[in-house]
Amino acid sequence: MNSAGINALVQPHLAQITPYQAGKPLEELAREMGLTDAIKLASNENPLGPSPLAVAAIRENLDTLHRYPDSHAYYLKEDLGRHLRLNPSQLILGNGSDEVLDFLVRALVPPGGEVLSTNHTFLMYGLLTQAVGGVFKEVPLRDLRVDLPALARAVTDQTRLILINNPNNPTGTAFLRREWEDFLASLPPQVTVVLDEAYIDFADDPQVPQSLDYIAEDRLLVGLRTFSKAYGLAGLRIGYGFGPSLLMDYLNRLRLPFNVNRLAQVAARAALTDRLFLERTKAVVFEGRAFICRELERLGLSYTPSQTNYILIRVDRPATAVYQAMLRQGVIIRAMEEYGFPGHVRVNVGLPAENQRFIDSLARVMGLND
Ligand SMILES: *Cc1c(COP(=O)(O)O)cnc(C)c1O
Repeated sequence: MNSAGINALVQPHLAQITPYQAGKPLEELAREMGLTDAIKLASNENPLGPSPLAVAAIRENLDTLHRYPDSHAYYLKEDLGRHLRLNPSQLILGNGSDEVLDFLVRALVPPGGEVLSTNHTFLMYGLLTQAVGGVFKEVPLRDLRVDLPALARAVTDQTRLILINNPNNPTGTAFLRREWEDFLASLPPQVTVVLDEAYIDFADDPQVPQSLDYIAEDRLLVGLRTFSKAYGLAGLRIGYGFGPSLLMDYLNRLRLPFNVNRLAQVAARAALTDRLFLERTKAVVFEGRAFICRELERLGLSYTPSQTNYILIRVDRPATAVYQAMLRQGVIIRAMEEYGFPGHVRVNVGLPAENQRFIDSLARVMGLND
């Protein structure tokens, strides 16, 4: 079969999809440039590493790897239910919260169905919509914040799903409880709202709403959380969603039986009990975030104040050039062209020495030496 033949066989909407570009792995930089002391501040990972209690749980369970996982993750759902004060029937687990997003889009968006989101947001939302032949509509941010009234106005009869994250990736901004409550009240009942809270643990403004407080059996609202960021388990792939039991039941029918592996289940249970690690993570992020912002101000660079573990920085020159120059110094960050911010980079908070190295390296690349 030649390529014209393959093109004709594959569903036509797939031709439009650009695959997700992940942050550059450290191993890849080592392979390409021989840099072995590089640091990665590109994927909003936890600088402290994984939760130690999760690692211990994994060690203890290594010799059960010949067994299939519990397909229903009974114990993890019980623990999560207690942790969130939800019934286990209101939960869905995924191979990362990305997978739960995939279930939601597949369950609710028919070909031609509309998904509303914003511009400058997590690229997976658009990709997953394209994968099912849906129509992805981006409502512009306003002052780099999600414009909830504009989103509500953009709803049409074709709208099936609204996908937003709070705080938003990559701007780091968050909307507040008042705006959120007005938004929920203004939506027609047949539109499902998904609030992705991957970074909610890093929001220190008490006015930032938590989806958990708005979950109800008769409201089409789904909250999404992940163990990838605050719990340091990105490599293990586990996240979850919560919402009306009947909707979760439908999502569950799309789920492959063993989507959350054995080690992920035991590690997530242990991580939930690791209060100390979560507190240390937040402290490192809050202190590092304040440090980086102070240093950016000293260098005269503008940035968007962040409620997350990363910062969007305006560099006023092609971001890819800055990214490449930083790479050569062994500092991996993210150029924001593909997120619609050509003159911006995104960096996540690292350990204190990493933050200092990032600042020094950025100052050098930008020609802003003290
Ligand atoms: C990191 C991130 C996630 C989490 O993805 P996982 O699949 O759970 O690793 C979800 N949403 C956003 C906006 C993110 O940045």
